[in-house]
Amino acid sequence: MAMYEGMKAAQQTARGSNRRRVIDLRSDTVTVPSTAMRQAMVEAEVGDDVYGDDPTVEALQIKAAEILGKEAGLFLPSGTQSNLVALMTHCQRGEEYIAGDSYHIFHDEAAGAAVLGSISPIGLPTDARGGLSLEAVEGAIKADDPHYAVSRLVCLENTSGGRVQDQDNIDSIAAMAHERGLSVHMDGARLMNAAVASDCSPAHLVRNADTVSLCLSKGLGTPVGSVLCGPHDFIKRALRARKMLGGGMRQAGVLAACGLYALEHNVARLAEDHRHAARMAEGLAQFPALKVIRDPEHTNMLFVAPREEDHTALLAHLAGEGIVFGSQKPSIRLVTHLDITDEDVETVISTVGDYYAKTKQKLSAAGS
Ligand SMILES: *Cc1c(COP(=O)(O)O)cnc(C)c1O
Repeated sequence: MAMYEGMKAAQQTARGSNRRRVIDLRSDTVTVPSTAMRQAMVEAEVGDDVYGDDPTVEALQIKAAEILGKEAGLFLPSGTQSNLVALMTHCQRGEEYIAGDSYHIFHDEAAGAAVLGSISPIGLPTDARGGLSLEAVEGAIKADDPHYAVSRLVCLENTSGGRVQDQDNIDSIAAMAHERGLSVHMDGARLMNAAVASDCSPAHLVRNADTVSLCLSKGLGTPVGSVLCGPHDFIKRALRARKMLGGGMRQAGVLAACGLYALEHNVARLAEDHRHAARMAEGLAQFPALKVIRDPEHTNMLFVAPREEDHTALLAHLAGEGIVFGSQKPSIRLVTHLDITDEDVETVISTVGDYYAKTKQKLSAAGS
């Protein structure tokens, strides 16, 4: 079943019921801006940001840099562009970056670094938690030899697959990379989830990364935007890369206002999303036919693997009840976010329960 079909069915159900709202667990990007966030957009003071005239963009960049403990920030339309700008600013043509082969920057950005930056990616396997091994990263750094590309950058990710990364591991990889003359970029699309879950300041988590990309449109609930933070001279060069990639935006303060609102109001509440994901995992674990995967490091995600024969039927049943999961196989990712309530969590658990109760009835009817 395509995601779109599931969404269509769920929307029809929601329209027909008195719930009138789809419970969408595909990603934390599906949130819609709240009334208060929209009000912040209305009131935002704006100017042409390509001329550097937008005070709200400026305020967001300063605020994000401060939160991440870096000198400067740059507002970009998306996390993908933020990562690409980082790669193109760290690396020259023919240079190389090392990343986990499951990381967004390696796997999910349409090979932008290679296509648009002439930068060569090296993907390393990640461990069960999503981390890289120090030895493997060190082993991937190439000797200075004209046969080889120049190893320039190590890219890390936190959270990765929804899991908070081992901080000691991050710190030792960063120390080794710096010692070998490489820089470190942290794809912190969901860094705030890691910070809240580990009760650590985000600046502490990235203190050994040279640059950090933070998504405002994931758990933080804005419609658009990411911030890339790092040293002043880096951000100055990144500005040119952003312009080249078409990311220079004009009265972008209306969007930056959402980011400012989110950093103020939507960070601490991520704990609620983590609690919802834990409760959902606990509730769904009662169904023996459903394998639930949630590690202690998981934040706002859990994964469920139905039996092969249930996969399509379970998703169709849920869509029929106005609930949407992604359709990944074998395990489906469920993501909690600020539009998911306590009640939604219980509705999901009981609706999955209804599916298994019905299946059992059908099986026993067939057997008798
Ligand atoms: C979503 C995501 C991105 C990209 O963000 P977009 O705004 O969707 O382009 C980058 N890295 C990670 C880890 C992500 O989850």
